[in-house]
Amino acid sequence: MKCQKCGAEINADEAMEARGQTMCEDCYIDLAAKPKACDPWAVYSAKNLPSSGSTVNEQQSAIINYLKKNGPTPPEKLAADLGMRMDDFEREMAPLRHMEKVGARLQEGRKVICLW
Ligand SMILES: [Zn+2]
Repeated sequence: MKCQKCGAEINADEAMEARGQTMCEDCYIDLAAKPKACDPWAVYSAKNLPSSGSTVNEQQSAIINYLKKNGPTPPEKLAADLGMRMDDFEREMAPLRHMEKVGARLQEGRKVICLW
């Protein structure tokens, strides 16, 4: 027969019964010794919570810093001042908008990039 917890092959006379499951002695002791074992997965996921969703790369932080210093700026000027091509700039802008760090609005009829 098999341990229902770890799947180890066990003899019937070694089998232990606990919580309606047949298990090997190891698992039984485990269960008895740690009735409320800390869940390694809980610790793992707490330590590895996705913080990547809010990290910005170098160019993105350059855009943010530029806006902090200079205030709302037309995208063409911002890209030019940062030495970025417009298509690169737009590509970096997309996640920044998504993260609600940077937005665009109209100022005197012109589109400007500003901090969210
Ligand atoms: Zn077992």
